[in-house]
Amino acid sequence: MPTPILEAESLVKSYRVRTPSGPARLTAVNDVSLRVEAGTTYGIVGESGCGKSTTAKLLLNLERPTSGTVRFDGVDLAQLDRRRMRELRRDLQVVFQDPFASLNGRMTIGELITEPLRVHRRSSRATLDRDAEELLELVGLPLAVRDRHPRQLSGGQRQRVAIARAIALRPRVIICDEPVSALDVSVQAQILNLLVALQRELGLTYVFISHDLALVRHLCTRTAVMYLGDLVEEGPTDAVFSDPRHPYTQMLLSAAPVPVPHSDRPERVKPTGEVPSPLRRPAGCPFHPRCPLAQEICRTTVPALRETAGGNRAACHFAEDADLRAGAAARA
Ligand code: ADP
Ligand code: MG
Repeated sequence: MPTPILEAESLVKSYRVRTPSGPARLTAVNDVSLRVEAGTTYGIVGESGCGKSTTAKLLLNLERPTSGTVRFDGVDLAQLDRRRMRELRRDLQVVFQDPFASLNGRMTIGELITEPLRVHRRSSRATLDRDAEELLELVGLPLAVRDRHPRQLSGGQRQRVAIARAIALRPRVIICDEPVSALDVSVQAQILNLLVALQRELGLTYVFISHDLALVRHLCTRTAVMYLGDLVEEGPTDAVFSDPRHPYTQMLLSAAPVPVPHSDRPERVKPTGEVPSPLRRPAGCPFHPRCPLAQEICRTTVPALRETAGGNRAACHFAEDADLRAGAAARA
């Protein structure tokens, strides 16, 4: 197997928080391991609060894991000295959901997109203008926006500015955390097309984080499904979408009916209810309180993420229960 460009191993992140009943620990990321191959797009999906952004921050080394490791090109991020950390900042960039929040409103667009070049001394005064022009062209913005300020731009244009900043140093990996979630649907498609074109042109690797399954299915080579800080299913995107093995993935897709065990009148039942608070993680399988498949073992034993015949890995005690699955299909 080739060395993945970005790799997480058993990542855990918990925060100390105050609650009405006193201080507590909130586990935002419980146990995440993933491998991102160079040149691919790795998707992370899940409902709000499941730990996607925290995972992004850990991958970016913006947050230190409580335990576990992140490796970039085989090198443990926790071991980097300051100089190597600077190099990593060049190679590993991010695009967030809300570009306005991360753009200094006093700066012009030209200043904003060349800021990374100045900070990393990658550009001289003489070449900054040309660099700005080149970046604007790469992200499909007219030259005229160079002297404007972020507030004078549309949401889609601002996201193009954020993308220009992210590619300015010619990184190898960009983490895109809900990059189009704040945009109108028509604008979303334009930004996604831009990301795809830039990937081809610049040989980029993406981690693409979204709550939108359709986007992930369309864009990603592999897909990971998160639930309450855990990866519950992971694999090649085709396999995850065509043969989901975790009831939570099935619920998200809600195309496949979820089987009901030991029931005389099986029917299509979708898991209902709220995602439990990460402050009170259920024992056993984190999904069991919402899962129609749940048995005694699910309440007591955490299912490991393991390979299934479909080529996905799934963290469900019944991921390989052919009878249950066949029965459900026959009854559906
Ligand atoms: P997502 O991006 O999937 O919506 P997040 O990673 O932002 O999820 O959050 C996961 C959980 O961690 C949430 O319950 C959130 O409230 C909590 N969380 C995130 N950051 C912090 C923090 N700095 N301090 C305390 N809790 C946090
Ligand atoms: Mg988020």
